[in-house]
Amino acid sequence: MVQETAKYKRVLIKLSGEALAGEGEFGIDSKKTHSLAEEVKEVQSLGVEIAIVVGGGNLIRGANLVKVGGIDRATADYMGMLATIQNALALQDACEKKGLYTRVQSAIDIHSVAESYIRRRAVRHLEKKRIVIFAGGIGNPYFTTDTAASLRAVEVGCELILKATKVDGVYEADPKKDPTAKRYSRVSFMESIKRRLQVMDSTALSLCMENNMPIIVFDIFKRGNLKDLVVGKEIGTLISNSEDIRIDGE
Ligand code: UDP
Repeated sequence: MVQETAKYKRVLIKLSGEALAGEGEFGIDSKKTHSLAEEVKEVQSLGVEIAIVVGGGNLIRGANLVKVGGIDRATADYMGMLATIQNALALQDACEKKGLYTRVQSAIDIHSVAESYIRRRAVRHLEKKRIVIFAGGIGNPYFTTDTAASLRAVEVGCELILKATKVDGVYEADPKKDPTAKRYSRVSFMESIKRRLQVMDSTALSLCMENNMPIIVFDIFKRGNLKDLVVGKEIGTLISNSEDIRIDGE
């Protein structure tokens, strides 16, 4: 068998809360979490240093709590950040059961359960081949974990963000609402912001654009995608500063 080699030295995987969720997009499904950990292990076995930012939408989304529960936005957002810490702990547990060394670093100080975020320490963990799971978003309300992913990827020197989603890339329009919508295989940050493509919020995209941090949006529910991406296979949609925009079938 030919030994596969990784194209990247250090990557950041953005896992939305729904990647850990069971049926109905809610809660933490242990089978899914363990299968994710297995995939992370496969990538690590190629020698890639892995940082992960985990979302919290499977437990709490601040904006929803405001609408449904009438809770103040900032409080609701802090509750959302706490949800990301719960997900990070579940993922850490699953990774450790697969024999991976991990550290959770939280942007919100919660000493009894996780390290606080310290950039230089996070980099050291990565150099020592520990999986670093960043929790608590950026630690401020009114932001998202996508912005946290962009920020941390830039801060700790990742080459790429792998944004794990339920869909296989970025489409011109929501493919659930418009089945004729075409998928981009490559698109620029500028085009994504201008056309308000459903990728990441504009804060996250701007940060990546300014710091030349490419993103690949891909389907995490297809087993093997993560490893295939890391060895350089063209999967999903690549978002970068290149103006070489490509749409499937055109
Ligand atoms: N959140 C926040 N600041 C951050 C990151 C997250 O206030 O820096 C809150 C916000 O309420 C958000 C929730 O945490 O709705 C969960 O994060 P997110 O929606 O990004 O999770 P995902 O969609 O990735 O599951």
